[in-house]
Amino acid sequence: MGVIKIGDGLTEVPLSGVNVFFLADGTGGLVLFDAGFPTSERAIEAAVEALGHELTDIRHIFVSHSHGDHTGALANLKARTGASIYMHRSEANLVAKGRAATHLTAGPGFLSRRMHRRLMNIVPPTVTAVETDVLVNDGDVVPIAGGIEVIHTPGHTPGHAVFLAREPGAIFLGDAAANVYGLRPMSSHGDHWQAEQSIRRVAQREFEVACFGHGTAIRRRASARFRRRWKA
Ligand SMILES: [Zn+2]
Ligand SMILES: [Zn+2]
Repeated sequence: MGVIKIGDGLTEVPLSGVNVFFLADGTGGLVLFDAGFPTSERAIEAAVEALGHELTDIRHIFVSHSHGDHTGALANLKARTGASIYMHRSEANLVAKGRAATHLTAGPGFLSRRMHRRLMNIVPPTVTAVETDVLVNDGDVVPIAGGIEVIHTPGHTPGHAVFLAREPGAIFLGDAAANVYGLRPMSSHGDHWQAEQSIRRVAQREFEVACFGHGTAIRRRASARFRRRWKA
């Protein structure tokens, strides 16, 4: 499946049905954003090797939310690397119990229903339980890789968060939005109104590159496209 360079020190790893991302931390290590499915561990390891690194170079893992397509390989990767996990408290509490499913309903329209059904079929409801090392909140700036800001984006799940890496100007959106059938809301949310408010807030920020859990990354002037889409 390979790796795709999408920016300076920034790599996308397309897995079957979800993407994870690596960001160079500037000191020889790697930051991983989200952790794929339970079956994704080997593909993530192969991606690290393709980048000329060893698995233990993963020092930090930022997790957008609890769902099993984003936390599946998290426990095993943590065990093998000793990396620190960063997550919002609401999601961390679920993952600490191995719970990966939350209530979701499909958004309006055929495309949302189709993608919702597909994800419901492939996303596991439980994952291997793992503790989060650093509970993060809206506005926190983690002082690695030039500063990674936490933006709490409830809606898809209550504790969903996106991460804005200031150095390359890249945002890691998890399931706050998707770019499968064009730039759109994610197909399913726990609270659609709240998710809409969250993505409008994100659209007010400046970022060059947008990285999605589902869909193709936007590599240039991404925040302008978000503002057009959500009229922020
Ligand atoms: Zn999700
Ligand atoms: Zn997802």
